[in-house]
Amino acid sequence: MSAVTAERAPVVELHDALVEFLGPRNVSTDRRMLERASVDGARMSPVISERLPLGIAEIVAFPTTAEDIARVVQEAVSRGIPVTPRGKGTGNYGQAIPSTGGLVLDTSRARTIHEVGDGTITADAGAPMAQLEQAAREAGQQLWMYPSTMNSSIGGFLAGGSGGTGTIVHGANHMGFVVALDVVHADGSGLTHVEGEAAQRYVHNYGTAGIIARATVRLEPEVAWRALYASFPSFGGSLSVVREIGRLEPRPRLVSADTVEVSAALPDDDAIPSGRSSLRAIAHPDAVAEITRLIADAGGRVEAVRDGAVEGAKLSTLSYNHPIEWLQKSRPGFYYHLEVAGDVLADDIDLVHATIGDGLLHIEAGHTVPIGMLASEYVGPEAVEAAIERLTAIGVRVHNCHQWNVDFEVQRTIEVARTTDPRGLLNPGKLNPDYTGPQKGSIR
Ligand SMILES: Cc1cc2nc3c(=O)[nH]c(=O)nc-3n(C[C@H](O)[C@H](O)[C@H](O)COP(=O)(O)OP(=O)(O)OC[C@H]3O[C@@H](n4cnc5c(N)ncnc54)[C@H](O)[C@@H]3O)c2cc1C
Repeated sequence: MSAVTAERAPVVELHDALVEFLGPRNVSTDRRMLERASVDGARMSPVISERLPLGIAEIVAFPTTAEDIARVVQEAVSRGIPVTPRGKGTGNYGQAIPSTGGLVLDTSRARTIHEVGDGTITADAGAPMAQLEQAAREAGQQLWMYPSTMNSSIGGFLAGGSGGTGTIVHGANHMGFVVALDVVHADGSGLTHVEGEAAQRYVHNYGTAGIIARATVRLEPEVAWRALYASFPSFGGSLSVVREIGRLEPRPRLVSADTVEVSAALPDDDAIPSGRSSLRAIAHPDAVAEITRLIADAGGRVEAVRDGAVEGAKLSTLSYNHPIEWLQKSRPGFYYHLEVAGDVLADDIDLVHATIGDGLLHIEAGHTVPIGMLASEYVGPEAVEAAIERLTAIGVRVHNCHQWNVDFEVQRTIEVARTTDPRGLLNPGKLNPDYTGPQKGSIR
């Protein structure tokens, strides 16, 4: 590093200390690396995109073990330098952007899986969810919950995500998924092991209460899932069966459906025919016959039933926000979306679509009520607020996802962080005591 001013001296010192113990290949101040470490999937939100860039890292470090994650945090906070943790950077709304600069702690090289036990798996924070699922399957088990973004990290999913494949059975927010964590506080205390209820305090709050260095999460017995693709002449057909399929015993792992327009934007696949509404389920093998009957009775047809874990995982990557991402790719800069829930989505889709103005819904059979992502033309942030009001008035539950504040157990996180991060150095700018919007997952 060059041009050391008094203000920059701590950053230079930190850089030198990190190079010393991580080695030069695991520390960078290269401009392109810093820029890459300072963005996440926030471009998905036109509301946030208009405000980018929101911050730029001064250093990015790539520790390769949980112990090194603790040491990196200690080196930074002892110099008063903020630390923004980062997994794969796939979060959608700017939560991984280092809004006050400082250090980005990229965990993607800390990916060791330590143990696959009976009902649990333990890995360092950067281990990709796909790798965990694979390891679990080799032991006759499967993850209790995982996101549709399979390459995202376990640390990022626990700290940033809110649900995904498994939500239909276990509910949103994956409470109960976390068994134990090794976390790092900004007080120089190294790795702290927390279990059960104490571990839940680090979930969904973007590292603001402590950085997850290692995680033990729950597994369940493996099922030989079938990836079932069906289609209907119109979205109404898909909507007429989505809840019933979701409630069938043995329960499916996922049920998703899309309007004809959203279906057309999905990746090419013979099982997603053009001009029809696509319905996809990760189905229990014992339920395939009953699902097939329900679909036929509702005027649809089964396009394909595919075996194997890879096929099931592929259907996960066409769920939650992913269909909206495909829709956005089909017409760049046009759409925004809202996270929505409620029976009205399936009961009166024409009203829902009309309320948001030419809306397009992606729906999932949720744990209790249908959940979904509702897209429409983006004409500015005020119109988004107005659409939320109108949707709420017709009984749609809405989560305005276009913001990066911690929106889950905010007061609890503030209390915890008072001790664990007294100087507010962990992911600054995300823990806002004035946040009053809906809580993550509360609409589901
Ligand atoms: C198309 C699309 C679809 C998506 N669908 C889903 C979905 O189905 N379900 C879902 O829950 N999410 C979904 N997401 C959001 C996101 O992909 C997930 O939350 C993902 O698991 C985040 O993992 P990551 O490794 O990319 O984390 P990042 O984006 O890197 O980080 C997420 C947040 O956690 C913090 N963080 C990262 N690592 C740690 C750590 N070790 N300790 C503490 N804090 C940390 C970051 O600072 C940030 O605030 C989707 C995203 C996209 C782009």
